[in-house]
This record gives sequence, C-alpha cells and structure tokens, in this order.
Amino acid sequence: RAKKLGGGCLVCYDESMVEQTTREVAIEQHLRKAVAEGELALVYQPIQAIAKGKCGLFAEALLRWHSRELGPVRPDLFIPIAESTGLIVEIGEWVLRQACTQLGLWRRSGLPIDRVSVNLSAIQLEQPGFVDTVRTILAETGCDPDGLMLELTESAVISRMDVIARTLRELSDLGILIALDDFGIGYSSLSVLNQLDVDVLKIDRSFISRIHDGSKDRALVKVILSIASLLGIDSIAEGVETEEQLEMLRGMQCTHAQGYLLSKPLDRAEFERYAVRYRNPGLT
Ligand code: C2E
Ligand code: MG
Ligand code: MG
Ligand code: MG
Repeated sequence: RAKKLGGGCLVCYDESMVEQTTREVAIEQHLRKAVAEGELALVYQPIQAIAKGKCGLFAEALLRWHSRELGPVRPDLFIPIAESTGLIVEIGEWVLRQACTQLGLWRRSGLPIDRVSVNLSAIQLEQPGFVDTVRTILAETGCDPDGLMLELTESAVISRMDVIARTLRELSDLGILIALDDFGIGYSSLSVLNQLDVDVLKIDRSFISRIHDGSKDRALVKVILSIASLLGIDSIAEGVETEEQLEMLRGMQCTHAQGYLLSKPLDRAEFERYAVRYRNPGLT
C-alpha cells in the first residue's frame, strides 16, 4: 500500500525492509555510472541580498539526477546513498567542476553574478588532497576563488572535526566563502560554530516555514540572526515562500534570502534571464 502525499511523492509506509534495501541497492548500482553516462545536471537557485539598499546575487548549484532506468531521483534520496557508499567523492568533484565551468563562462560573458555556491559533504572535506583538487579545478576552469562559496551540510556526520576545520581554513585562505548549511537542525550547531570558521550561516527552512508572529521558531530565528550579527557574518534564510516571511526576516536584519518566493531552482538559460532581470529591473 502506498499513500500519496500532497507533494506528489509516493511513500510506502509498510514497505518491508527488504524492499527498501533492494531499492537502495538499485539506486547505488545506477548511481555508479551516472557520472559516466551523463545523467547528472545542475540547476541554480538565486540567493538575493535583502537588506535595504543592498544588491547582490548568488546562485546555489543543486544536483539533479535523471536516471535512464529509474527516472528522476531526488537528492534527498540519492545523496545519503552516495555518502554511505563513498560515491559522493566522485559525484561531488563532478559537481564542483561543472559549477566552476559555468561560473567561468558566466564571468567571461559578463553575466552579473557575485558567487556560485556548491554543497559539500563532510566526506569530501575529509579526503586527503581535497584543497589541491579545488585548486586544480579552479585553475582548469579559469575561475576566481572569490566567485565561489562552499556549503557544508551540517547534518552530514562529522567524524574528523580537526581535519575539516583545517581544510575549511585552507579553502578560506584561497578566498572562497564558507557557509554552514541547514543551521539549527541536528544537535551540534553551536559547538560546530565554535570549531569552524564560517562566513555565512544558512538558516534551515524548517524555522522559516513557522516564523509567524509569536511562534517559538520566530524567537529561534531571532537568536540565530543575533549570533550571526555578533560573529559579524552574513545570514541566508532558506525556504522563504511568502512576502510576510521576507518582511519579518528583513526586519530582523537577515542579510540574504533564498526560496520559492524569489525563485525555484532554474536551469542555466532561465538563471541567465533571471540575473539580467535582477540587475536591470526596468527590462521585462
Ligand atoms: P540544501 O543544500 O539545503 O538545498 C536547499 C533545498 O531546498 C533544495 O532542495 C531546494 O530545491 C529546496 N528549496 C529551496 N527553496 C525552497 C522553498 O521555498 N520551499 C521548499 N519547500 N524547498 C525549497 P533539493 O535541490 O531537493 O536538494 C536537497 C538537498 O540535497 C540539499 O539541501 C543538499 O543537502 C543536497 N544536495 C543537493 N545537491 C547537492 C550536491 O551537489 N552535493 C551535496 N553533497 N549535496 C547536495
Ligand atoms: Mg545547500
Ligand atoms: Mg540548506
Ligand atoms: Mg537541506
């Protein structure tokens, strides 16, 4: 039996563990050749500065997998499998190269975009030589490090905090911005902040969705934003879907927003049109 949810995704709530394991094995097998078969693609979601009088446009690169055999598979489903099997190292390198190639093309064509942001699994950061890999990719794609932001997904299991802290410092020294993704969920957020030097906090969208007046989440978002401000770093609210949310966040000195209100993730051509319109609001 399967239950259809509003979002259109099928959830089999009495699916046996055997079935689930079989599905994961199938995903793993097909994922192994996804890079070589050219089944991966990136979409770009705009991130905008929201403080009064501020202008700034980033793009978060988000991975999409259209498997020939399985159809489209959501990142929430295949990224954890890529992490547990180690495939994330190869896939993550593909993502970084693809994003940097795109950024290089955009910069050379004069597209007004400040940075491209790429998601990183902690597993990638723990690989010896990861900083060299980043350096090589930047050189080969002709990209400036100051056009790049890297997002560390906080929910990923961090086993070697010392290694990750050192790697992030080296990346930061290159001029790359470091963001902490999904901040506030998981259980080690504050201690992580203490151990890692980050430039940007991304507030998880679960807080933003319940940010209405008087809610606990509103108080928590306020606390997170004052932490960011005390540390002197920028903040990005994820999953902003309404004008009310945007106004509240602006009132609380949140510096940037991302979410369906501004735009859903876009393909390359759509993002290019978005960026041009953003800088030239007069054009239609
Ligand atoms: P994330 O990095 O937190 O990315 C934001 C997710 O929120 C994206 O889901 C985006 O489509 C979705 N989103 C953005 N605005 C809204 C909104 O207003 N409402 C709602 N309901 N959702 C919104 P997506 O693309 O499905 O990615 C899911 C997660 O998969 C990402 O969360 C990230 O953790 C992971 N992921 C995606 N691409 C990569 C990648 O290249 N490498 C790694 N390691 N992880 C990735
Ligand atoms: Mg992210
Ligand atoms: Mg996030
Ligand atoms: Mg997330």
